[in-house]
Amino acid sequence: MQVSGKKIVVLGTGGTIAGTSAQAGDNIGYTAAQVGVAQLLAAVPGLQALAGGALVAEQVAQIDSKDMDDGVWRALALRCRQHLNDPEVRGLVITHGTDTLEETAWFLQEMLEAHKPVVLTCAMRPATALTPDGPQNLLDAVAVVQAPGAAGVMVVAAGEVHGARYVQKAHPYRVHAFHSGDAGPLGWVEEGRVRLAQNWPLPQDVYDLVAIEKIVSATDWPWVEVVVSHAGATSRGVDALVRDGVQGLVVACTGNGTIHHALEAALLRAQNAGVRVVRSTRCPEGQVLPKPGDVFPDSQGLSPVKARVALVLDLLRAG
Ligand code: ASP
Repeated sequence: MQVSGKKIVVLGTGGTIAGTSAQAGDNIGYTAAQVGVAQLLAAVPGLQALAGGALVAEQVAQIDSKDMDDGVWRALALRCRQHLNDPEVRGLVITHGTDTLEETAWFLQEMLEAHKPVVLTCAMRPATALTPDGPQNLLDAVAVVQAPGAAGVMVVAAGEVHGARYVQKAHPYRVHAFHSGDAGPLGWVEEGRVRLAQNWPLPQDVYDLVAIEKIVSATDWPWVEVVVSHAGATSRGVDALVRDGVQGLVVACTGNGTIHHALEAALLRAQNAGVRVVRSTRCPEGQVLPKPGDVFPDSQGLSPVKARVALVLDLLRAG
């Protein structure tokens, strides 16, 4: 779709960017998701002017993103889709907590035909911090939406632009908390200017419309868990999950997709019983390289948490 409009819709979902603490110097003892998105935007000097007065705020949720769930994802996908189809809209910014940001980014990447930019942003310091990072991240996110040619689902934080596929939270405290591993950032935002290291992400294949309708209208999403292979792993956890009716398992494997023999035996039983099993790696960089004779498919480079999102969506589509 041709970008003609200039409206930038900012969808608020909560997170530390909207968090407050009783003491300004407290960067960890705060409560996330307290400040409304309209108030967040109003507090950033020059933001509305940067957007040519065309910023519109909409609160979709107000949660700590550690508690993200399928209900919020469904609501967010529907709101994004509606705004992206509006010719007046140039692009979207989504304010979000950092904890599950990469999962929401991947979910939206799979769900939206994002020929316009959809930029998730966040903060590592609450709005009441002595030096909050949210305001600059918001300015940078708007700059990315306005950059010529920008399209696709991205994450903007700490002056970097990341694509949805590889971005992950890599540090629990530092302001510079995100990286894209081997792939590196797509670019940087410097004084309101975007400097690209790579091309803008190409619009990628998303599910067809029928599948997307099915996904957003299903209220009962499949149960998919992530299990980790580690020294001393056993079969008990997986056997219990299968008894309880789990429908999919993503394995955060050691190294190149290897699995402790005790866990592997349970996973084979699970697969034979009809549970979908997918291997990812617990290594923070690189991806599982498949080889002939593999008994479990690999996640095609997706991290364990993103592979979980992909498997949920696949099961929904197939269901
Ligand atoms: N727990 C917060 C959240 O994910 C952390 C953050 O936003 O930095 O909502």
